[in-house]
Amino acid sequence: MDTVTRGQTAVATSRSKRKSAVTPSWHQSVSKRAHQSGRAPQPRVAQALALLCGAGFGTVIALALSVEGRAALASPGGWAQAIGRVSAFTGSYLLLVMVVLIARLPWLERTVGQDKLVRWHRKVAPYAVSLISLHVLSVILGYSQMLKTNVFHMLWSFWVNYPDMLAASVGYVLLLMAAFTSIRIARAKMKYETWWVVHLYTYLGLGLAFMHQIRTGVMFIGHEHTIQFWTTLWVGAGASILLLRVGVPLVRNQQYQLRVASVTEEVPNVYSLTVSGKNIKKMAVSGGQFFQWRFMSRDLWWHSHPYSLSALPRPPFLRVTVKGLGDQSSAVAKLRPGTRVFVEGPYGVFTHHAAEMKDVTLIAAGVGITPIRAMLEDLPSSVNINVLIRATRAEDIVHADEMKSLVASRNGRYHEIVGPRDEVNLDDATLEDLVPNIRHNDMFVCGPAGFTDAIVASARRLGVPHEHVHHESFTF
Ligand SMILES: Cc1cc2nc3c(=O)[nH]c(=O)nc-3n(C[C@H](O)[C@H](O)[C@H](O)COP(=O)(O)OP(=O)(O)OC[C@H]3O[C@@H](n4cnc5c(N)ncnc54)[C@H](O)[C@@H]3O)c2cc1C
Repeated sequence: MDTVTRGQTAVATSRSKRKSAVTPSWHQSVSKRAHQSGRAPQPRVAQALALLCGAGFGTVIALALSVEGRAALASPGGWAQAIGRVSAFTGSYLLLVMVVLIARLPWLERTVGQDKLVRWHRKVAPYAVSLISLHVLSVILGYSQMLKTNVFHMLWSFWVNYPDMLAASVGYVLLLMAAFTSIRIARAKMKYETWWVVHLYTYLGLGLAFMHQIRTGVMFIGHEHTIQFWTTLWVGAGASILLLRVGVPLVRNQQYQLRVASVTEEVPNVYSLTVSGKNIKKMAVSGGQFFQWRFMSRDLWWHSHPYSLSALPRPPFLRVTVKGLGDQSSAVAKLRPGTRVFVEGPYGVFTHHAAEMKDVTLIAAGVGITPIRAMLEDLPSSVNINVLIRATRAEDIVHADEMKSLVASRNGRYHEIVGPRDEVNLDDATLEDLVPNIRHNDMFVCGPAGFTDAIVASARRLGVPHEHVHHESFTF
């Protein structure tokens, strides 16, 4: 093992146990896999789903255009109403695509990864909301032109005379609220939980919109196929959310019966949480993956947060390592043994499945070390390992001893790059120095956003192919 310490000299890490129970030693790698291996990505299924999504969009446009006729377009307000109809259908379709993207479809999750799916969900959002807004405006305008009345009177008339229109308007307002609170500046000022609750109301908004679409849409009246097509879409999207985000987690947690076993302080403000449960052997998870964790204590039961496993499961135990950054992560330190734990997952594509090369470099900083530590146990023994840990002080490195012994057991290389930022840097020259064949490595990077971005940029400059640079982001 080759330990490079730059800047400040490494000193013995102080660790103290806060609470303890009979929990396993996490220092040694599992000699024989004691749980099911995480499932491999399924790019073909993901591609088929993408094709299906494109075909669905084509069908939506074809169905929308099929009912438009010259006479209707030529009548007063005809064009505005036609624009309203086409934008309604394309906008609704995009909303349903957004729902499916965050429904945690297993084939998409394990192929694309949750962070990318959430990014796509966000990218589609402005188009969906703009199309729905265009629908609202052009339908009010079109009908007011047709009935020769002003737009405010028309809006009032919609609310009192058309079934489900008032409910749809409430749905639209809920949609706008979700859109507004997701704008970067607004979101930055808001607690994650507040944003989440507002977002939850969008599902109610979608439900309210569905009935008005089916019952008042001109294209549905007398068009049985259109009704069937759209009902299938809405029911499919709703069922996937309910099944995968509520049903499956409920069943799995009933099987796992997880409870806090112990909480251990690793370094100041970073705690390892060991939970024990049943049927952990059947849990298919890869090193590097994360779960959404919900701790069923009085203050924490109502919100869940993502944490990566910091070691492969040792049935009946799982472990995560959490840095206290805000309300929930800081409260982890005070969890009592026996507290029920509810998990959703595993999620993420930051796993050995992404590695293609024989040489793998794992780079971590801060609490980003957690998925890297778990991945160390999961990479095939044929792979040559190089580990680079960046820290301001050696005593801040979480799980340093475990990392060292795991790397040593694989005859890998372990480097600590330690020192203040203005003196020590993991720059292009240092990277090339520590990993001379870096172009032929798979790189796995996890750490604070600025650190990860800098390493990814260095990797590009050093000629590491894009597809060999893998990184996990700790913020969605
Ligand atoms: C895939 C992934 C894996 C992670 N693994 C670990 C880990 O192993 N160890 C660790 O210490 N931290 C990990 N994190 C970060 C951890 O989830 C946040 O630090 C934690 O949720 C903060 O919550 P809080 O209430 O304490 O702080 P808050 O003050 O509420 O939030 C601090 C920041 O954390 C982010 N955040 C808060 N809640 C969530 C949420 N439910 N989902 C996504 N982001 C959220 C927000 O961007 C927010 O700005 C991971 C994050 C992600 C996305």
